[in-house]
Amino acid sequence: MNAIILLGAPGSGKGTQAMRLAESLGLPHISTGVILRQAVADGTELGKVARDIMAAGRLVSDEIVLGIVDERIAAPDCGRGFILDGYPRNQAQARALAGVLSKRGATEWIANIDVPPEELTARVRGRRGTDGRQDDSEEAFCRRLEVYESESLPLLDYYGNRAVNISGLGSRDDVFGRLCAALPFAAARLVTPKLVAQ
Ligand code: ADP
Repeated sequence: MNAIILLGAPGSGKGTQAMRLAESLGLPHISTGVILRQAVADGTELGKVARDIMAAGRLVSDEIVLGIVDERIAAPDCGRGFILDGYPRNQAQARALAGVLSKRGATEWIANIDVPPEELTARVRGRRGTDGRQDDSEEAFCRRLEVYESESLPLLDYYGNRAVNISGLGSRDDVFGRLCAALPFAAARLVTPKLVAQ
């Protein structure tokens, strides 16, 4: 079982890349943000707890997100592996994940999509209003960036050389090409004429 973990700031494009990778590899894309937004839209108990925290750009509790991930990766479609997008977001989550993955005998592949903060801000200003995310307001986005810097960025030290770092600048195809080249497991399955040509 292969657990592909994508790290990156809000606005780094990790959600887009995670979707493409999932599609190419035929593995499920697990985004804790998507699951939480769906729970909010459905008005479930989880959604009621998560709604205000998400709108403010803060993190939902480690216990809740671990529960979500643990349950999701137990599903039969995750048997060969899965792509994790938005989890882990701090060291406590990374440690909990390591426990869950070793219990299942999963191999971790970790890639960080690196985008400088000024570019992140510019991107989110550009998309604001187009996809209508409540947490893309100026204030909530700044908070998400702060939370990313204080909680999630230290994950790079935590994973050390187990995480490959790739630049998130350039077109989506550029970034996807780099990602595939950086993940040997993925690259082996993704050698398409297009990527070879690049
Ligand atoms: P982005 O990466 O663009 O900030 P996500 O869709 O990954 O957005 O997450 C949106 C929000 O959902 C986060 O700001 C946070 O409130 C909540 N969330 C998602 N994943 C986690 C997580 N692993 N731990 C805590 N909160 C999370």
